[in-house]
Amino acid sequence: MKPTSFDYIAPSTLGEAVALLADEEREAKVVAGGQSLIPMLNMRLARPELLVDITRIPELGGIHVDETGSLRIGAAVRQARAAADTAVRDGWPLLAAAVEHIGHPQIRNRGTVCGSLAHHDPAAELPAAALALDARFVITGPRGTRTVDAGDFFVATFSTAVEADELLTEVVFPPRPAGHGWSFEELTRRHGDFATVGVAVLLERDTGPDRPDTVRDARVVFSGAAPVPVRLPAAEAALVGSTAGEQALAAAAGAALAGLTPSDDIHATAEYRREGAAHLLVRACTTAWERCS
Ligand SMILES: Cc1cc2nc3c(=O)[nH]c(=O)nc-3n(C[C@H](O)[C@H](O)[C@H](O)COP(=O)(O)OP(=O)(O)OC[C@H]3O[C@@H](n4cnc5c(N)ncnc54)[C@H](O)[C@@H]3O)c2cc1C
Repeated sequence: MKPTSFDYIAPSTLGEAVALLADEEREAKVVAGGQSLIPMLNMRLARPELLVDITRIPELGGIHVDETGSLRIGAAVRQARAAADTAVRDGWPLLAAAVEHIGHPQIRNRGTVCGSLAHHDPAAELPAAALALDARFVITGPRGTRTVDAGDFFVATFSTAVEADELLTEVVFPPRPAGHGWSFEELTRRHGDFATVGVAVLLERDTGPDRPDTVRDARVVFSGAAPVPVRLPAAEAALVGSTAGEQALAAAAGAALAGLTPSDDIHATAEYRREGAAHLLVRACTTAWERCS
């Protein structure tokens, strides 16, 4: 199918983009990499009258570490650029790994980090990574700029805290402690497919004299297990204080089996997803622990 007809404008300033989105005369939609939106237009699942291309706005094109040590990724930054960035790979390796699980190189060359977060497919990798990494979302619109925490950003399937007349201008990742361990694992039917279920794990090793070589802090977040990314405190509690050995991993997997309530769909049954999630969690924790220093 072909899309319904629409106008296309590529503003060069954020102010212009905000004004176009705020115009009540015609329904406007942001287009970034177009990797999700263009298929939706072709299938006529979206019928905007105007596409506002934000990828030519220089102030949205930055990726840098600020004076507080936080990583800031602007809305025009493509996924491939973020994954290749040295600061990202060194300081936020979980994010780089999550990006590398997205589709294929062609998708990542065009798709943006913020576009994936704003689109919020429940099976997508970046929302889960963003929740695990405590990301903050900078949203700009006609009423000004506001910042939303990851826990409040993802509202429901394909729905976030970004209103129709706003855009996500930047995502901010606070610094992670040096030497933390990480892993992103997912279950897919074919290489490059959207995952049936995925998990992001962050671990920190206690190196102090009281409890050496135990898990000091753990973060466990699943994708594809609910309409929004799911953090599982029971699995984290099973890991903290342990040596990430067999018993703790079994307890964490048990917490996933008991705590996740995915639904059946055409891709997998709820039971298959839950079992897969528990297996992935064990694998991801093992890898993350090996990477802790
Ligand atoms: C074959 C194929 C395989 C794929 N596989 C995966 C996969 O495995 N995992 C995965 O996560 N994704 C996958 N994708 C989707 C891909 O990652 C998209 O790039 C991503 O979902 C959207 O990013 P984008 O920049 O292309 O956004 P666009 O397609 O331009 O926009 C998507 C939606 O987000 C909105 N939007 C975009 N940017 C902003 C912003 N800054 N502020 C407000 N709203 C905004 C748009 O209005 C639109 O509604 C796949 C896509 C294809 C075509």
